[in-house]
Amino acid sequence: AKEQGRNTYRFYTPTLTTAANERLALDARLRRALANGEFVLHYQPQFESQSGALIGCEALVRWLSPEEGMISPARFIPLAEDTGLIVPLGEWVLRTACAQGRVWLDAGLPALTIAVNLSGRQLQQPDLVQRVADILEQTGLPGERLKLELTESMIMGSGDQTLDLLRAIKALGPRLSIDDFGTGYSSLAYLKRFPIDELKIDQSFVRDIPQDESDMEIAATIIAMARNLHLKVIAEGVETPEQLAFLTSQGCHACQGYLLGHPVPANEFVRTVFGRASG
Ligand code: C2E
Ligand code: CA
Ligand code: CA
Ligand code: CA
Repeated sequence: AKEQGRNTYRFYTPTLTTAANERLALDARLRRALANGEFVLHYQPQFESQSGALIGCEALVRWLSPEEGMISPARFIPLAEDTGLIVPLGEWVLRTACAQGRVWLDAGLPALTIAVNLSGRQLQQPDLVQRVADILEQTGLPGERLKLELTESMIMGSGDQTLDLLRAIKALGPRLSIDDFGTGYSSLAYLKRFPIDELKIDQSFVRDIPQDESDMEIAATIIAMARNLHLKVIAEGVETPEQLAFLTSQGCHACQGYLLGHPVPANEFVRTVFGRASG
């Protein structure tokens, strides 16, 4: 009986129960946080490599928890994707980022492209096109000022439905970028098939430049491939002048990373990024 008991309870170990309970509790807190307006966006600048001109920014979500302070998206985005909360949260992010872009335009600041991360769950929403259209109309951000970052896995193996959806979004003006490029399992055929504008070299290939020669070759190969396919290419995670110089020498159009600017709240972005770019 004892033996059987042990087998029976095998899947209900305290650790599993705790983990499951913690997820449930976090999900409830996240839903409340969204209702209470506890999420904020930080904006990280993107610069043209050759000229150093400010060309855009990426909106990155953070949770300002009253109990814990600022919480990284790495801690809640995966759960939000599992539970589906990413759909309303992602819509809030899109709306907030577009509204911010409009505020900056109205303030007479140089026009930027605002990049927003989309998750796979959002892409599965049949009304995503209408939602994007509504948000652009309601915020007044010109569609051309928006860039949506997707990952390879979101479109790899997806069918004509996704293709139609992306085409319809593109028709509204936004550009499409493939985030974390090079990390997914991907056939390159989809780059031709899908209406993609830009590849974003994953930071794992940038981090060890110039020490790691194979990373340098991978980055250079992605840049050359983008050129041949007439795609733009941006590198993320640029932290050193050597990395910036190497990527620029290879023809990487744009760079983003701590060397050039950390993600910061909108008001700080105006002060430190716009301020520096115009001064
Ligand atoms: P990501 O889209 O690949 O974003 C890049 C991450 O690298 C950001 O982390 C950014 O702060 C960080 N980063 C920027 N420059 C550097 C650098 O020079 N060095 C290093 N080591 N890191 C740098 P963050 O903000 O913590 O976001 C993590 C991930 O969370 C994002 O990765 C993205 O996958 C997800 N995420 C963030 N905001 C959103 C959102 O609004 N929606 C969705 N679906 N996902 C989001
Ligand atoms: Ca991204
Ligand atoms: Ca990325
Ligand atoms: Ca990433």
